[in-house]
Amino acid sequence: MRTLSAFPAFAALGLLILSQLLAVPAQAQSLLRDAETEEFFRDIGKPLKEAAGLDPRAVNVGLVNDGSINAFATLGQQVYFFSGLLIAAKDVREVQGVLAHELGHVAGGHAIRNNEGAAPATSISLLSMVIAGALIAAGAGDAGMAAMMAGQQAAQGKYLAFSREQESRTDQAGARFLEAAGVDGVGMISFFRQLQGDEYRLAIPQDNAYNRTHPLSGERISALENVLERSPYWKKGADPKLQARYQRIRAKLIGYLSNPEDTLRAYPAADRSQPAHVARAYAYHKQSKADLALAEIEAAMQVEPRDPYLMELRGQILLESGRVNDALPDLRNAVAASDTDPLIASMLGHALVLQGERDDNAALMAEAEKVLRSAIARDKENPFAWLQLGTIYERRGDKPRTALATAERLSLTGGDPLAINNAARSAVAGLDRGSPEWLRAQDIVLVSQEDIQRMKKRGNRDRRG
Ligand SMILES: [Zn+2]
Repeated sequence: MRTLSAFPAFAALGLLILSQLLAVPAQAQSLLRDAETEEFFRDIGKPLKEAAGLDPRAVNVGLVNDGSINAFATLGQQVYFFSGLLIAAKDVREVQGVLAHELGHVAGGHAIRNNEGAAPATSISLLSMVIAGALIAAGAGDAGMAAMMAGQQAAQGKYLAFSREQESRTDQAGARFLEAAGVDGVGMISFFRQLQGDEYRLAIPQDNAYNRTHPLSGERISALENVLERSPYWKKGADPKLQARYQRIRAKLIGYLSNPEDTLRAYPAADRSQPAHVARAYAYHKQSKADLALAEIEAAMQVEPRDPYLMELRGQILLESGRVNDALPDLRNAVAASDTDPLIASMLGHALVLQGERDDNAALMAEAEKVLRSAIARDKENPFAWLQLGTIYERRGDKPRTALATAERLSLTGGDPLAINNAARSAVAGLDRGSPEWLRAQDIVLVSQEDIQRMKKRGNRDRRG
């Protein structure tokens, strides 16, 4: 997880490299998880999903670590943005426009998975290097995450190309959602036009895959514009708060994904904006210049000292620089200010476990357990939190709970059903009969049993085949 760069070092070589990039076979992709980005997606998504008649909680928007400019929706009511699209867009209305279009596919029941440049996501990374590393060290590597994603992406293997009519209908739906949500449709048009004309002249070449998976014709864009410009919100401008949040997320992604040198070129020191400070903080952090990184965070915090995501970032940089104890106040404050965001809580839990082990401090371990339990209650798909909880129980000599934590973690990361079954069985044997944890362990036993049966059947079939 050290090779985080989605954009290898071929910046500024232009179109020659771009054409070579297009010939590269679909590569393994990872999901990027970040509390701030996910909150942004939930907030821009809510009014659009409601306009589409979709349950905002049922339709999730995820971020795939892939430099190409694309987005897609799946049968499982998931919408995925590629990091490349978030970086290529310059205005929050462009992101809202693409999201409205993708929600049109979801609402229309179009089972789509683009087959160009998009292999199924095979791992999850957090915008935290230390956490990703710990998770992979614990065996939740690519194979494990692949299985997890396979469950989420019910549409896997369904490669459908859309007809022009379907795309136009989806555009019209997207335009309706934008108007109902009071969003200016200018961004949808400008983004589509730029993609269509391949007008992107970026410092970092990006594969314009959106144009291939959602064919964009001039006719189609004009038809869409005709509808959008009748909206009372046409050219009314972007919501300034959302625009500012988007600019920071974009800067964060660039900082996280690009080579530090590229980031520092895109955000030179003279740029004193908050997004620039955040991007440079990542760049310096990647160069192991913790003091410079922290100075950038301080500068970003001048405007918003209690911003949960800036406190999270400072805590993360301190934690990843080995200053665990110093990271705790920031991470505690970030958890409180974010209403216990499960991703931030997991990071705090991790820091508490590290410091608790270092100082042999039972109070820190107890705090960690509480924080991690609340993270899991809010975000079930959190193998990292289970990994940390397992460490706590193991140290305490609590074998049944250690076994349950192992079973939970392995189930989430697509572990071997036999190993899951074994762990869940020893949890059942040691936990109080009828307690919620005992019931949960029983459930895992049953599910893993079915997986073992299925595995056996498949094995027999393969032998006969
Ligand atoms: Zn489409």
